Amino acid sequence: SRYPIDALTALLGDVPIITDRTIVRRRSRDFFWYSPILAEELKAVAGDIIVRPRDEADVIRTAAACAKLRIPLTVRAGGTGNYGQAMPLQGGVLLDMTDITGVVWQKPGVVRVRAGTNILALDQTTRETNYELRMHPSTKRTATIGGFVAGGSGGVGSVTYGGLREPGNILAARIVTVEEEPRVLELRQDAAQKVNRAYGTTGIITELEMPLAPAWPWIDVIAAFDTFEEAFEAGRAIAHADGVVKKLVTPIAWPIPGYFGSLKSACPEGKAILISMIAEPFLESFRAILGGRGTITYERPSEEGPGKVPLYEFAWNHTTLQWLKTDRSITYLQLLYPHDRLAESVAEMMALFPDEVLPHLEFIRFAGNITCSALPVVRYSTPERLNEIIAMHEARGVFVANPHVVSLEDGSRHKRADADQLGFKADVDPMGLLNPGKMASFVAVR
Ligand code: FAD
Repeated sequence: SRYPIDALTALLGDVPIITDRTIVRRRSRDFFWYSPILAEELKAVAGDIIVRPRDEADVIRTAAACAKLRIPLTVRAGGTGNYGQAMPLQGGVLLDMTDITGVVWQKPGVVRVRAGTNILALDQTTRETNYELRMHPSTKRTATIGGFVAGGSGGVGSVTYGGLREPGNILAARIVTVEEEPRVLELRQDAAQKVNRAYGTTGIITELEMPLAPAWPWIDVIAAFDTFEEAFEAGRAIAHADGVVKKLVTPIAWPIPGYFGSLKSACPEGKAILISMIAEPFLESFRAILGGRGTITYERPSEEGPGKVPLYEFAWNHTTLQWLKTDRSITYLQLLYPHDRLAESVAEMMALFPDEVLPHLEFIRFAGNITCSALPVVRYSTPERLNEIIAMHEARGVFVANPHVVSLEDGSRHKRADADQLGFKADVDPMGLLNPGKMASFVAVR
């Protein structure tokens, strides 16, 4: 190794570590292979050692040791991130947060939770008092709350509450800095956005305070339509019905549902589908809004227990995964459509790439407006063509969060890290040891 790992383990004392090469290599990966470009670019990436802190004191000890020895430190939790978010580009320590779990406290509408807590486990705990998270990624069953805040953007529930970046959706974050004498900082409200989707480059999150929503019995529903336009219009009507309590409104074009193995009987040949999660008392309202449009092919209580596959595992980033299970020739994009010309924009892009960019939309609320983000399936040919498709979207006012690049800056339209996050990094990680390479515009200040 290019780093003094023996000196590191001496400083770590009894903090649990894993040095087995096979395990370290395996856990140095995430879902980067969704991108054929990153699959090639990152295939050799591996850390030198896994450190498994048991509590915040262990995190502080590890951060201090890495700072002293100038060893890169990449935080890893559930490992479900895309685009190599949790992959240690320059090797060093992989900090596995999954032993730092549990609810610190809970009161009506708010939970304080340790960052490594699995999201399904968290929801099961808060449900005991009839609350649940406002939103979760479709990886709820395997991802952690810290990984969601540090790497994700929104998901199931965002049709009602918007994304993680909206005020009120992250109430506070507690972080450890990476310095020879690490500090513990409490970031509240706006300040907590400094760690949202920063890929763990702006501090190690140990606790989060998250808002909760009333818990409902959710019903998973699929409706099938002759055309994608009809599925989209039905979805739009549901998304705009503020009185209908919902968590998911997802129009998907044929042939994508043809790859939904276990749901085959609910996905008729040639039909577009609309996937929804509706609170049970509003199912009748949902049907009334459909008003005879489409055919309901699936309707059952959403179940997440062992052996049960909730419908949300066919939505968000799982839609692409269902297809990738049997065919690696496709990839995907992440889009945000303009809310003020949504239907026109969706139709325009469909006409531009028939049979090449296959529509999968997610209705969301964004800054108070209903619009769609999208994770279309893309039939992949070359990197040049993929970049051309991205540029053609951007030129027509569709925002692209490029999932085929590793750095925060290249992934965003602005081609630079959020200024606030960049300035904050200089304070909390002055040597640039946290997940190096992800915030590309950062230059070490010490
Ligand atoms: P990891 O993958 O382990 O880490 C993600 C990032 O967060 C890394 O950069 C890591 O360094 C950092 N990190 C993790 N923990 C901490 C911490 N305690 N402190 C500081 N940094 C930390 N994302 C969505 O937003 N919505 C979705 O619906 C969604 N669906 C997905 C579906 C699939 C099939 C896949 C593969 C991915 C999906 N994602 C989605 C992306 C990913 O699942 C989410 O970002 C997820 O919440 C990551 O959690 P994790 O615990 O697996 O984090």
